[in-house]
This record gives sequence, structure tokens and C-alpha cells, in this order.
Amino acid sequence: MFEIKIKDFLGRIGVLDTPHGKIETPALLPVINPNRLLLPVDKMKEIGAEALITNAYIIYRTPHLRERAVDVGIHRLLGFDAPVMTDSGSYQLSVYGDIEVENEDIVQFQIEIGSDIIVPKDIPTPPFSPRERTEKELMTTVRNVGEAWEMLAELPNRPLLASPIQGSTYPDLREKCARMLRGMGDIFPIGAVVPLLENYRFKQLAEIILHSKMGTSSCTPLHLFGAGHPMILSFAVAFGCDLFDSAAYALFAKENRYLSPHGTYDLSSMEYLPCACPICSTHTAKELRESDERERLLAEHNLHTAFSEIRLIKESIREGTLIELVQQRCRAHPRLLDALKIALSHTDIIDELSPQRRSSPFYSGPESALMPEVRRHQKRLERLEVGKNCIIFTTHPSSTHPDLSLKDFDSVFILKAPFGPFPPELAETLPVNTVHVSGDLEAKHKALEGVVYLIKNNPTTSFTLVLEREWLDIAKQRLNGLDNVEVWGEENG
Ligand SMILES: [Zn+2]
Repeated sequence: MFEIKIKDFLGRIGVLDTPHGKIETPALLPVINPNRLLLPVDKMKEIGAEALITNAYIIYRTPHLRERAVDVGIHRLLGFDAPVMTDSGSYQLSVYGDIEVENEDIVQFQIEIGSDIIVPKDIPTPPFSPRERTEKELMTTVRNVGEAWEMLAELPNRPLLASPIQGSTYPDLREKCARMLRGMGDIFPIGAVVPLLENYRFKQLAEIILHSKMGTSSCTPLHLFGAGHPMILSFAVAFGCDLFDSAAYALFAKENRYLSPHGTYDLSSMEYLPCACPICSTHTAKELRESDERERLLAEHNLHTAFSEIRLIKESIREGTLIELVQQRCRAHPRLLDALKIALSHTDIIDELSPQRRSSPFYSGPESALMPEVRRHQKRLERLEVGKNCIIFTTHPSSTHPDLSLKDFDSVFILKAPFGPFPPELAETLPVNTVHVSGDLEAKHKALEGVVYLIKNNPTTSFTLVLEREWLDIAKQRLNGLDNVEVWGEENG
């Protein structure tokens, strides 16, 4: 049901096949309130929606909607002929504590109204809940998923099952839940993360995404439930999420909030609209603010922004530059940058799933030391032949040390942050031909880690390091205690 076309980092462009057609991922599904359509569904399609998500529980509980949905089906009820996903009332459960419907009944109802992607009744355990409660509720969710999976198994042209991964803020329980759900379901939503998003708890979000990813099979799609803010989308895609739903476009519009990939603006204090969508290019901030249709127009802009970001993410995946986009986006908020470092520290899964770079990476910032190609490069150091004496330099020593002749050395290496030493003949190849902004301490430390490795791995070789001034202090720290190395500064010899 899910075919992966192109991969970059842990992100991918894929195609999800549903009874009402295909959805290309990464995809954003706008959330529709069946009681109040803020934007016509045709408009959403025009802006970029390939699929929608609506709440089956609200329809189930509203007699006139329920009757019509059973009568004509969910697609005609919404006037939308492409894939429709339905939620089971998990949100209502998180707000009101209980919902008056059994799992079997709400699953059966979603089947009856012809939903393309069905969500069973899952228990959205909030962040930071007690462990015991989390484990108990997780088991209920797994049981309900199992029941729904059996109900769908025999159906012809069956709808897809979304099997929610719960586990609150316990990374190990998220992973355990994901493992238990393997083989039961077609897409795997990561549930109950909205409170984390609302409070900018991106570190916990990063842990949850990566541990859910570790628990699921790498060829199944992950859905990040409730994450529709454009600022977070590239990050979530780069670490393995394929599907998103957005109620944010409408909720934010109601509160006069203007979405951008760099964060949220308050429309009431804006003077310029920094966007080229049809709304922003035909209104001033004042006109938008004072319009009778303010909420609808703002929702339309918000949706444009989110879909434009999805297209940019797809193009970045195609180009092989997704992680560079994430690095830019994470500069929008310090907590996002922290979360990026946390996410990049999950080296096992990143090295396992991320493909080799197709494009020359552009590194900036301390997180570049954590990139997988740096680790891959350093792993290759053990195969390097160094001979009896070896010189490693950051810039060619001919001008600063004319008495040093490279010919006197058995092996010559260039040192570059964050990779470490490499033979000059590789200088123009990936990944060391990368442009790196110099001055990052972490990147230099990482490079020197490679040097230390090479020195320790060859204890009988004598090493000469010729370093530029900004490397000297760090080099002294890192090389302390090694006696087969001599360090030369660029000027004083
Ligand atoms: Zn706009």
C-alpha cells in the first residue's frame, strides 16, 4: 500500500494507495470540522490538499450528519472525491476524559460511511503521565487496534487502518508500542503530541518521533498526529514522518495568528505580509485585519503556507538537501535547535536508514559534527595506510614552513572540520568537498577526534600536525598524552 520513491536523510517521497486514490507523501491532510466548513473543500484541493481528515465521532454523535453520512457516504457528505481519513474521537477523549462509543462501533461506523483511512478508538495518554497509567492505556490502544485489524481483514477493497502509537513521553514505551503494532495496520500515527507542540517541547517530540520510528518497520508510513505548523514539518519529515494533519490553519486563523515557516505572527500587529500567496499578494495587513472575511482569508493563507512548505520539503528531498532545510528552519526557535541536536544524536537509526549523500552538503552550525557522513568518513580512517611518518595539515605548509617538505613523509593528509583527516586526492569528492563555515568548535573537535583515532591506531608512526592558529588550543586539549605527535603552529613553528 506504500511505495517509497526517493529517500533523503530519514525523509522520503512515497505513494500511499487508498480506495479513493493515491496520496503522495509527505502529505498534509487539512482537518475538516463537519459542522463548520471554514473553507470549501474545492478550495482546499486547489491549494494542494490531496486528502482530508475529519472526525467520525462528531458525525456519529450528530443525528443529521450521521444519517446523511450512512446514506451517501463520507465523500459525498463532504463533497470530496479524493481520499478521506476519519478520526475516532481521540481528541474528544483527551479533552473530555471519555467518549460514549465502543471501539467496535466507531470502527464499524467508519467502515459504513466509506472512510479510506480508519482510526480505532485509541487512548491519547498525555505527556508526562505516570508510567503505570501509560502502560495500561497503551495496552488498551493495542487491543483496540487488533480488534479493528480483524474487522477490516475480510473486507473487499478494504480501507487502510491507522494504528496509533501511544506511550506518553516515555521513549521506550513508544518504541514498545510501535513494535507491538507491527503487522497490524497500514499507517502509524504518533498520537498525543499536541500538548508538546503547543508548549514548544521539541526535545521530547524528537525522542518520541525517533523511538516510534525505531519500533516500526522502515517501509511503513508514520503520521504525526496534530502537527500542522509549517515550522515543524521539515524536521518531522527528516526524522521519518510521512503524513500530517492540520487543524492549525483554522485554529490559528480564529485567533488572528498568521503562520509562516519561521514561526507565528500576530496579525493584529503586522504591517507587512511576508508571503506571495493569492491572499497576501492582494491584501495589505490592514485590509486583511479589517476584512469581514478575515478568519476565512487568514485560514486560506495559513493553508497556502503549509502546502508551500510541503512542496519545498519534497523538492529538497529530490535534491538531497533536506537536512540543510531543517538546519535553516531550526534556527527559528532555540528549542528547535536543541531538538535537532537530540535527534541527530540517535546515530544508530540515522546511519542505518539515511542513504549516501547525492549532493554536496553545505554545513553550518555546531550540529554539523553530528551528520552521518562525518561518521562514515571517520570509520574509513582505520583502513588508511600511514607508513613511518605522516603529516596532517589544515593549510598547505609550503608558505609558513618552507623547511618542511611533504616528500619527506610517507603519508600526507589534509585536516578539515568536521570530517577529520583525508588524503589530498579526495579533496574534490563527496563528502569532504563540503563547504563548511569555519569557527565551529564542535566541528573542530569532531575533526580532531579523527586525528586522535588515526594516531592511536598507528602507535609506531610519528605524526606532524601543521595547524592554523584557531586550531591550536583545541588540538592541545585533544592530543594531550599522545607522544608520537608533534604540533606546529602556522607561524611560530
Ligand atoms: Zn499568504
